[in-house]
Amino acid sequence: MCYAIPGKLISLKDNIGVVDYFGEERKILVDKGEATVGDYVIAQGGVLVRKIPESQAEQILVDWKESFEKLKERDASLTSAPDVTGDTKFLQILQKANLKQTLSKEELLFLLQTTDKKQLQLLYDFANTMRQKEHGNASCTHAILEFSNNCVFDCEYCGIRKSHDLKRYRLTTEEIVARAKYGVEQLGFTAFVLQSGEDFSYTDEQLVDIVKQVKSLGVLVFLSLGLRSKALYKKLYDAGARAVLLRFETSDEQLFSKLRPGTTLKDRLSLIKYLKEIGYVLATGFMYGLPGETDETIINNILLNADLAPDMYSSGPLIPTKGTPLKEEELISADTALKIIAITRLVSSDSNILVTTALETLEPQARKQGLLAGANSLMLTLTPPEVKALYAIYDGKANKEDRLLEQIQETIELLKSLGRSPMDIGLIQ
Ligand code: SAH
Repeated sequence: MCYAIPGKLISLKDNIGVVDYFGEERKILVDKGEATVGDYVIAQGGVLVRKIPESQAEQILVDWKESFEKLKERDASLTSAPDVTGDTKFLQILQKANLKQTLSKEELLFLLQTTDKKQLQLLYDFANTMRQKEHGNASCTHAILEFSNNCVFDCEYCGIRKSHDLKRYRLTTEEIVARAKYGVEQLGFTAFVLQSGEDFSYTDEQLVDIVKQVKSLGVLVFLSLGLRSKALYKKLYDAGARAVLLRFETSDEQLFSKLRPGTTLKDRLSLIKYLKEIGYVLATGFMYGLPGETDETIINNILLNADLAPDMYSSGPLIPTKGTPLKEEELISADTALKIIAITRLVSSDSNILVTTALETLEPQARKQGLLAGANSLMLTLTPPEVKALYAIYDGKANKEDRLLEQIQETIELLKSLGRSPMDIGLIQ
């Protein structure tokens, strides 16, 4: 989105660079030879995506300087010390989190089971303040491009599962690249999540070619291809993909295998760890509101997520969807979703937390509420309008192109109204 500004690369050691945005510093990954100290660069999700000419960068920065300061002030005013009255145990837990002490499972459960509206507001304000302390007002918005709804798996939650009788589509390399090009050139996006069902009809070579071509547009290629071989992910890393989204879905092994027949949590975790090891910026997380899940499962999910130490936390509610065995499940409440974001922030204070598109389906105000409860990044769907409705992993996704343009505008307005600036969120480590 046009909401990304350049910064100056002020240091570079091995592949870790530091970018300066009006005096604020963010760490980013820099591939060998891609930039040198003194260059102006655009970074997304903690990764350098392109250099930009000095004169162009300086002009953008002159235009932004004043708004940047104003946005910072606005963010600071929205995170002024929350009003701390209420239940003593509740306040003690928040105080402990504030001191960065590890919260016990019992304490985390206590937070998750809080229903009192005033206390919940305090929890969200607290998490928001923590986000501000750790990350300042940086925000990032990625585009997601869903390129195939074919899938060999039969996951019980997913609307594009193999046995759902659904019209299938598969974009060609040219169509994917053309859409990404439109996203970069016309809409100003700088990061693309390329997502699909587990579709083995694209050859490794074709996927490598897609990654190379999309990357050459000067953007972050973020993969979300599911359970594919380590060898393929390695090839795609070598081709230039730098981030990957692979959720562990749930920390409950039995539930995992029931919901994802023929697969195990162990294998999924092994793949997630491998992806981090080979250098991908990792986004992972879980779904909540699954049948058979308890509050303990949710806390275990939050803790497993923290153990995996991803660069980005991406969790979202189950949206019961037609064509799936879970179609009649009850929708989880928006408050639970916000509590999960806030508790994630308390457990991993420096995390980058995404407000997922599924949460927006659950609650139209979710973006704003999530950003005010500890989250700092967003996603917008850039899938071509002709096929968007067919990428029905869950129901209720809007599919008009006009709506996308409106959404971009609304997102920029929202980020501005909350005082979030377009400097990159940076790497955590
Ligand atoms: N096939 C790939 C990527 C596509 S699904 C994979 O499995 O990783 C991307 C994410 O959408 C999944 O990780 C899952 O957490 C989420 N998802 C699938 N069906 C959903 C539903 N009905 N409601 C909410 N989220 C869902």
